[in-house]
Amino acid sequence: MKIGVIGGGQLGRMLALAGTPLGMSFAFLDPAADACAQALGEHVRADYNDNEHLRQLADNVDLVTFEFESVPAETVAFLSQFVPVYPSADALRIARDRWFEKSMFKELGIPTPAFADIQSQADLDEAVARIGLPAVMKTRTLGYDGKGQKVLREPADVSGAFAELGGVPCILEGFVPFTGEVSLVAVRARDGETRFYPLVHNTHTNGILQLSVASTDHPLQAQAEDYVARVLEKLDYVGVLAFEFFEVDGGLKANEIAPRVHNSGHWTIEGAECSQFENHLRAIAGLPLGSTAKVGESAMVNFIGEVPSTAKVVALDGCHLHHYGKAFKPGRKVGHATLRCTDRASLEGLIDQVQGLIQS
Ligand code: AMP
Repeated sequence: MKIGVIGGGQLGRMLALAGTPLGMSFAFLDPAADACAQALGEHVRADYNDNEHLRQLADNVDLVTFEFESVPAETVAFLSQFVPVYPSADALRIARDRWFEKSMFKELGIPTPAFADIQSQADLDEAVARIGLPAVMKTRTLGYDGKGQKVLREPADVSGAFAELGGVPCILEGFVPFTGEVSLVAVRARDGETRFYPLVHNTHTNGILQLSVASTDHPLQAQAEDYVARVLEKLDYVGVLAFEFFEVDGGLKANEIAPRVHNSGHWTIEGAECSQFENHLRAIAGLPLGSTAKVGESAMVNFIGEVPSTAKVVALDGCHLHHYGKAFKPGRKVGHATLRCTDRASLEGLIDQVQGLIQS
């Protein structure tokens, strides 16, 4: 089976690493000459709105998926005429726009921070009067890794903020005094069967994910699964979806969903029976899903800007290096390590050792 992937970054690369043993082959559509997934499949170098190349890709593969949610809706709609696309154009349309996304959570009874649609500075002034400060203003689309957002702490931060974020449609959210950030990665098959990985505790630095630790018997696991199941059913979703939550007052508030494999699920490559990448491919290909059970205690440390010395990383027992083959650049995700141990105390020791390599 040949899979077309829109986007050729590390997520596409890891999909191909998981799918190749299943007998799958891959073609990646990405305008970047140095798209790192090309080491693992065919590279169709074209823009996302280049219908001629999209048509070529559709004719050349059995189905299409994507590795980032900012794919233009028209691209997915165009491809869907010729080839099955999973997840659907509708799931993507909602997940790529924070207003549609939060409105869906509200409709499904999933708690969220207070939020408002912002189309002008006047809308912002009115929303701040209603929601209060501090608050977080985010562009409705195209934001990632903390980009396209601004924390408004005092009235002086509000004036001119709409123009500062580019004068594009935004949302304003009440600032959540969270005690932690967790995410749930789930997979839903074409027949509706759904499986969930354990909740993951995430730590961000400057808006970029730094560390994910998979939990054991998290008290909010059932609550999170219930919320995620509502979304998956509503969207008649096929594939892997990640749902990020804030932990606050002993409960969960929805932050956002990603309609794709997710950085907070990278630990599953060695830390779970079947990884998020393999399960995504199984789901979209109509294959039986794999077990989402954890194998021991597991965590993921991101390498941002550069990857430490390979020899030093692989010298650590239980540490598995994933180098994305990308040029090193400050703020860029260029690799990660999955850490796997038999017990929690050893895992914490190993996290410290890997983080020590980053600082040294
Ligand atoms: P996002 O791109 O929406 O995931 O936001 C990036 C990071 O900003 C989150 O992981 C949080 O650490 C922080 N953040 C986003 N929204 C809020 C909020 N409403 N209240 C507090 N912190 C937030």
